[in-house]
Amino acid sequence: MKILNAILGATAVAAVSLFSATAGAQTYPDRTITMVVPFSAGGPTDTVARLVAESMSKDLGQQVIVENVGGAGGTLGAARVANAEADGYTVLLHHIGMATSATLYRKLPYEPLNAFEYVGLVTEVPMTIVARKDLEPTDMAGLIEYAKANKDTVTVANAGIGAASHLCGMLFMSALETPLVTVPYKGTGPAMTDLLGGQVDIMCDQTTNTTKQIQAGTIKAYAVTSPERLDVLKDVPTTAEAGLADFQVGIWHGIYAPKGTPAEAVERLSKSLQVALKDENVAARFAELGTEPSPEADGTPDALKAKLESEIARWKPVIEAAGQYAD
Ligand code: ASP
Repeated sequence: MKILNAILGATAVAAVSLFSATAGAQTYPDRTITMVVPFSAGGPTDTVARLVAESMSKDLGQQVIVENVGGAGGTLGAARVANAEADGYTVLLHHIGMATSATLYRKLPYEPLNAFEYVGLVTEVPMTIVARKDLEPTDMAGLIEYAKANKDTVTVANAGIGAASHLCGMLFMSALETPLVTVPYKGTGPAMTDLLGGQVDIMCDQTTNTTKQIQAGTIKAYAVTSPERLDVLKDVPTTAEAGLADFQVGIWHGIYAPKGTPAEAVERLSKSLQVALKDENVAARFAELGTEPSPEADGTPDALKAKLESEIARWKPVIEAAGQYAD
């Protein structure tokens, strides 16, 4: 009898889990999804995430809420998602820092290439070299001269080692062959507040955070790191025009889920991302901020995986040559 009960029990359990597996696949998502942004609220990554999350929420029929987990150049938020339950209800929206931190941090609490499932690429955002509005120099040549002459006092804000602003600042200092004083924040949202208040001098930050301020004249812009000038910042020269040849960088963003997230959930998220990439409202808001959605074909796991792998390989020698690490 005991044996029979055990067999019946086992059969019932099998039937229940088969049922819930099937029901789960059909009903995902059936509750709120958390999208972790590994930087402060109000900054460039947060802005991108909120626009995409709003569009994905409509498509998924469930809220995608943004949670900001800033600190350590984006690695704290990434670690949080790497260790989250792999159930499709926690995802990460991160940028190029996922690739650079793989080399910059000798000890990371996760392996960038092994800790995540890939959902897809979101956008690639140009950067701008900007300063507080009353900084003396009026163009890049003047800024370079000024920075070299005042290297012990000129301050450069960034969002911590591994952030896009850190990478761009590093490229700027290496172009100048002059180290400047860096001031780390948990995101360039709060760094922008200090730039507006005149507490820091310079920042290299994404157009998603700087465009409105440049247009309003509340900060000064010296260059944009894209190959062509941007429609929304017509008066701002490219880095090449401003005398910094080979200084081009685009901050690509992707969505990740913890390793082991069910394939059906990853596929559903990826499809929803592709809908967001075609959403006219997302495109219009991105355009106002000097960027555009990634092509729909790049909103796929394969495209993000290939991008991350190639970008880790691209930045490794640059970082090693600069010899800058976060231990
Ligand atoms: N993306 C960061 C933020 O949202 C800034 C950075 O990476 O420089 O604050």
